[in-house]
Amino acid sequence: MKSTAARSNLLVCRPCGLLNRPGPGGDGWRCARCDTPLNWRKPASFSRAWAFLIAAAILYIPANILPVIESGSLFGSKSDTILGGVVYFWTSGSWALSIIVFIASIVVPATKVAALTLLLVTSQRGSTWRPGDRTRLYRFTAYVGRWSMVDIYVGAASVALVQLRPFASIDPGPGAIFFGTVVILTMLASESFDPRLIWDPVDARDA
Ligand SMILES: [Zn+2]
Repeated sequence: MKSTAARSNLLVCRPCGLLNRPGPGGDGWRCARCDTPLNWRKPASFSRAWAFLIAAAILYIPANILPVIESGSLFGSKSDTILGGVVYFWTSGSWALSIIVFIASIVVPATKVAALTLLLVTSQRGSTWRPGDRTRLYRFTAYVGRWSMVDIYVGAASVALVQLRPFASIDPGPGAIFFGTVVILTMLASESFDPRLIWDPVDARDA
């Protein structure tokens, strides 16, 4: 039997780092030093993570179908979806930009939704399958989340490039709002999931 903090009735307070000994049964306790509520696991982790994740998966559709950029010139107006932008950069010779936009805007969000779905399904079923790898997968989704805002900079850079051309106006389209929302929702889903839930079935098996 492995010794864990929870088995030893120890619970760390995340904001202040104090190791508390809340006694058996656990929830509803507060940190002895800073009065933050203490939880053995993030409250309602599965339902919160699922809610954010399903919302992200649904909004991923309009984010890709609706235009993210609307540009107007003397010759008429033009709107581009993310994929349209990827094709535009590719055919106009900006291959590096095309690949960056494709990975950051299409591959990364889809991979993140798939990875979080895998983590939620396996943990909820009490799976003991490769917990170390699943923990690394979780750390990866949390790490990638920090870089999701790179898309915003890529978008701004693209707009700046397009501005060099004789366009009269350039505006973000409705797809951009959905896209930003998808990024935020996947971050919230990742944040709601408690990675200790990966190890609970493993600890129960080994106990
Ligand atoms: Zn505290």
